[in-house]
Amino acid sequence: MYWGLRAQNHRGHQSHGFLTYHSGQFHIHKDLDLVPKLKTSAIPEWLQRLPGYVGIGNVRYTTSGKCDDAALLRGTQPVTASKGDLKLALSFNGNIANALQLRKEIDQHFSGFVCTCDSDIVCHKLLLELAKSKDLATAVNACMQSLDGAFSVAGITGNGDFFAFKDPHGIKPLCAGHSPDGATFAFSSETVSLDMNGFIRDFELEPGELVTVSENGFERTQIVKNPREAFCAFEFAYFARPDSRFNGKYVYEIREDFGRNLVREFPEIVKDADVILSVPETGDDPAMGVHEASGLRWERASRRHRYVTERAFILLNNERFSTIDRKVNILGSKVNGKRVIITEDSIVRGDTTKIIIEKLRRAGAKKVYMFVTFPCIIGPCFYGIDMSTYGQLIGSNHNAEEIAKIIGADAVCYQSIQGLVQATGLTQEQLCLGCITGKYPTPMAQKLADEMRRKFLGGYKEKDRIYETDEAATQAK
Ligand code: SF4
Repeated sequence: MYWGLRAQNHRGHQSHGFLTYHSGQFHIHKDLDLVPKLKTSAIPEWLQRLPGYVGIGNVRYTTSGKCDDAALLRGTQPVTASKGDLKLALSFNGNIANALQLRKEIDQHFSGFVCTCDSDIVCHKLLLELAKSKDLATAVNACMQSLDGAFSVAGITGNGDFFAFKDPHGIKPLCAGHSPDGATFAFSSETVSLDMNGFIRDFELEPGELVTVSENGFERTQIVKNPREAFCAFEFAYFARPDSRFNGKYVYEIREDFGRNLVREFPEIVKDADVILSVPETGDDPAMGVHEASGLRWERASRRHRYVTERAFILLNNERFSTIDRKVNILGSKVNGKRVIITEDSIVRGDTTKIIIEKLRRAGAKKVYMFVTFPCIIGPCFYGIDMSTYGQLIGSNHNAEEIAKIIGADAVCYQSIQGLVQATGLTQEQLCLGCITGKYPTPMAQKLADEMRRKFLGGYKEKDRIYETDEAATQAK
């Protein structure tokens, strides 16, 4: 569990937590920041603090709830809930668009309910349904019917039963695997955590599927029939580790294809360039694709500080500028006087990219062309990526030419949506493309997006996260 979680620390750096089950009790450790290094001498003490044969862990970055240290610690997962004899623990990846609406129902059944983030809502809602039906599959079904959003969940019941399920759209990844001796079973957001433990990957959970675990292995139950798959396309461009696999392909292979597509889609820019650079690390794999398809030299002239580990995108606004500046260094003489293509995974606010371009200009780059693998982000995400307002997205009211001017590039070249889809090996209907098309797979998210866009274009100043505002509650009615 420890190595699995550490391998996935890129999915959340603000806090981490471990929970184990032993003799009817949950044992929990939670703390802020990255999963820490563990001294070998401390392992016996940790095993005493977290006893048992089954456990779940979580790393988190906030897409709901507050961001001060106290709130972060309260919102750290795994979370627990209890009612009478029943109790439940779960680790959740995703975001619930109709959390405010569900909160009212939960408030009625749990006196003094303190909600720190939407994982509390999912945990209490599932427990409530479990209390009604006494059957996990029925309770999960009820959750799938009432939660609007993305939820990949791993949990443990008060009896120590280990289970996992995925929302009916399968927006977030979740796979299952086992140890080579067949004695241990695991769920993980990404395959890399199975690899790190020497485990064998068995399958990716289907959208709307519940999987339970016994000594005999996995038992799979399709809870929602005919689910509409909508896997997050942003996982391929940015979020997932390159050495994780989806649909039998490494993410890095898909990112290389993104680079090849960009060469096909922008031949004139390729002709006008001397070298390729990448914004490390998510830009590295597409840069290899650009290099192979164009024959241009990939100059590794943009280097990253190995021990500044925060991911720029998931930093808070006030942390972003200084961290990027200290994290990425440009090898000046390698770009001086050159026309440069720089590959980047995405442009969200534009400020990260702007800093990199400023650095390249200072180093003497003659021209700077941006090759961006994720198409222009025009709308918020309601499913667990923290880009939640139109106002914070440079692409919501600017086209590529305008964005180039704002960030100081000679051109911004986005990969086409068709190119992105084809490289993933999935069809457009199997992907969530909500933030790049404005068409969201779930009804509440679509309703929020449409209403908030109308207001935004009318000059309305958005509050932080659309789905946490009073407007969201009104929309839910
Ligand atoms: S809206 Fe965008 S970031 Fe959010 S789940 Fe869909 S594709 Fe991913």
